[in-house]
Amino acid sequence: MSGCLFCRIVAGDIPAAVVLENDTVVAFLDIGPLADGHILVVPRKHFDLLVDVPPETCSAVASVVPVLGRALLDVTQADGFNLLVNNGRAAGQEVMHVHWHLIPRSSGDGLGYRWNAGSYPPGKADELKDRYLASLGSPKD
Ligand code: 5GP
Ligand code: ZN
Repeated sequence: MSGCLFCRIVAGDIPAAVVLENDTVVAFLDIGPLADGHILVVPRKHFDLLVDVPPETCSAVASVVPVLGRALLDVTQADGFNLLVNNGRAAGQEVMHVHWHLIPRSSGDGLGYRWNAGSYPPGKADELKDRYLASLGSPKD
C-alpha cells in the first residue's frame, strides 16, 4: 500500500535490519526497541489489523515465530520473550500494517503490564460466553 511504512520496508524502499524473510513474511529489528533484539514480523501483503489477516497468512507468521524466538533467546541471552500484537489505535497500534512484536524479556527488566485482574459478578461470565457463541457460531466451528 503506497505510503505505508512497513510496505515500504517490505519493498526495500526503506532500509531495515531484516533477520528473516520468506514468500509471505518479513522479520526485522524494531527501530525503537523495548529491549535489544526486539523483532517485528509483518506479512508482505498489507493488512491494517490482525482481525483482517486470513488464516494462511496467520499460519505463515505462526510458523516463523518459534524459529525467531529461538534465535532471539540465543542472540540476546534473554530469559524469555513476549509475543504481542497491538490491534487498533486504542490498543497502541501506531503503524497500521499488522505486525507481531517479539520482545526480549529478562528478570527484573521493568517491562510489562499492570495486570489489574478483575472478577465477574454472578451470571456475567455466562452472559458473555453466550454472546461470544452467538458471534462465533458453534464452538466447534
Ligand atoms: P505499534 O505501536 O504499531 O504496535 O508498533 C510499531 C513499532 O514500529 C514501534 O515499536 C516502532 O518502534 C516501530 N517502527 C516505527 N517506525 C519504524 C521504522 O521505520 N523502522 C523500524 N524497523 N521500526 C519502526
Ligand atoms: Zn503496509
